[in-house]
Amino acid sequence: MKLTVIGPWGGYPKVNEASSGYLLESDDFSLLIDCGSGVLAKMQNFIQPENLDAAIISHYHPDHIADIGVLMHARLIQGFLGSTMPSLPVYGHTEDVREFEKLSHKNIMTGVAYDPNVPLKLGPFTVRFLKTNHPVPCYAMRFEKDGKSFVYTGDTSFKNELISFCQDADVLLCECNFYGDQNGQNAGHMNSFDCGNLAMEANVKSLILTHLPHYGELAKLKKEAAEKFAGQIYLASLGLTMEV
Ligand code: ZN
Repeated sequence: MKLTVIGPWGGYPKVNEASSGYLLESDDFSLLIDCGSGVLAKMQNFIQPENLDAAIISHYHPDHIADIGVLMHARLIQGFLGSTMPSLPVYGHTEDVREFEKLSHKNIMTGVAYDPNVPLKLGPFTVRFLKTNHPVPCYAMRFEKDGKSFVYTGDTSFKNELISFCQDADVLLCECNFYGDQNGQNAGHMNSFDCGNLAMEANVKSLILTHLPHYGELAKLKKEAAEKFAGQIYLASLGLTMEV
């Protein structure tokens, strides 16, 4: 599996950048994970919209879905220009039916409900889900293929169940919206110590901090996480790639 960071920012994109969006590729299958503000523009550095095979959405906050509509426009226009492509399956939960219905448009995009209680076969990946602690229903996702595993936390404050969910993952892409001296619990986010602690307790191989705050020194997030976790730690940035 190859992971590419498209959008590392929480809440909204920094100038010329994007909020949540990640590309996971394997066996010529390309999956977009979340589609926040700015993702469509930045994604085209790595893949064209008509070449995506599927997308999956953790939850329906704007910084994770803002560009779904323009992804649909891109595929519509590329279709007019002669590209033939099947309707793009966009996997989402159905705990907000109005938002789920927005994932479908004519024969351009098709919302597909995932059942968080059942492992999902999605292209070459097996995906498992864990409901997170967040103001709206949100799911962390564990992607597995050929004995390798990659976990994306989505948005969440720390909860114990995350530890077994992330156990022994090769790569943990972990939301880190707060610095160590801040408490993210009420906002439904983790701080740098939570991330380091989760990585350590779950015995993951490497940790990527993402959903980053717009203030402070980001290097401090990494330093604080490293007080808890001795493995490799990366700060998510546009174009960061990792072989899982
Ligand atoms: Zn959120």
